[in-house]
Amino acid sequence: MRTLLLFLSRQKQLRKWMETSAWARRLSGRFVAGDTLPEALSTCQRINAEGIAVTLDHLGENVASPAEAARSRDAYLQALTEIVKLGIDGNVSLKLTQFGMDLSLADCRSNVEQLVRQAAQLGNFVRVDMESSAYTDRTLDLVTDLHARYAAVGTVIQSYLYRSRKDVEMLCDRGIRVRLCKGAYLEPPSAAFQRKADVDRNYIELMNLLLEKGVYPAIATHDESIIAETERFVVSRRIPRDAFEFQMLYGIRRDIQRRLAAEGYRLRLYVPYGEAWYPYFMRRLAERPANVVFLARNLVRR
Ligand SMILES: Cc1cc2nc3c(=O)[nH]c(=O)nc-3n(C[C@H](O)[C@H](O)[C@H](O)COP(=O)(O)OP(=O)(O)OC[C@H]3O[C@@H](n4cnc5c(N)ncnc54)[C@H](O)[C@@H]3O)c2cc1C
Repeated sequence: MRTLLLFLSRQKQLRKWMETSAWARRLSGRFVAGDTLPEALSTCQRINAEGIAVTLDHLGENVASPAEAARSRDAYLQALTEIVKLGIDGNVSLKLTQFGMDLSLADCRSNVEQLVRQAAQLGNFVRVDMESSAYTDRTLDLVTDLHARYAAVGTVIQSYLYRSRKDVEMLCDRGIRVRLCKGAYLEPPSAAFQRKADVDRNYIELMNLLLEKGVYPAIATHDESIIAETERFVVSRRIPRDAFEFQMLYGIRRDIQRRLAAEGYRLRLYVPYGEAWYPYFMRRLAERPANVVFLARNLVRR
């Protein structure tokens, strides 16, 4: 089921049909904060009121023209300006294929640089999400290069990739902030662990490394046993609670989100918005195929 859903997430015709369908849009509302920036910002303010920070993601990936990439950049510049203007406790997360990486590395770099420069001027931060392993090297190169000049940028490491320990060590050495996640794409056995137990074991090893050697790491997961392991580790090493943060996705495991915030942990929610929601939505279904049944039931009830 996971493989099928991830395969469907890359189907262009299905994407076009879903993104223009009113009922499909209603379904995606469980994971997506709205179509427009004002809707997303008011969701962010509501989340902030619960003592939880945000990172705003303007949905879109694998854009097909330089004009589309430039529109994505402008949407992010505007989002960052509004976040600061409204005093929202938040930053932004982006995907390099949304900034034109498939079209021209130089243009993509220039688009991201404009945003990172603005973030540095505003005292804010840009997180570069990690996409499939075809992009890992280019993503790390671009982030390390921009970090050397602006500092206001960090990236993401996926524990399902065999290479990740080496990448975490390199990022720690350079003082670059890392968000650790398990990984959401379909990867071959030559690149990634296929068994959940191996992905989880590697996650815990990388989490320990980041908490000891990293700069303000983000532990991004909804996995209760890994969250418990993180809590045990920071207590045993006397790592202060303001030296790291948990991160979770908007709309997923509200129960754990509330508990962590109530216990005084730093927590940030990843809040996606925009009309290009289909690939993001399908990856969320793939992570927990029971979501398909849940959504189908809601549809039948309507
Ligand atoms: C803040 C944040 C940013 C991320 N950024 C990236 C990125 O840049 N690149 C990337 O490849 N991946 C990214 N991911 C996705 C990540 O790689 C995983 O696919 C996703 O978080 C599910 O893994 P998990 O750690 O929650 O563990 P899992 O083992 O998948 O899930 C543990 C438990 O969490 C709950 N859960 C997990 N997913 C769902 C869901 N979709 N619906 C309902 N319940 C669910 C279930 O209770 C499940 O039993 C990000 C995740 C987060 C939280």
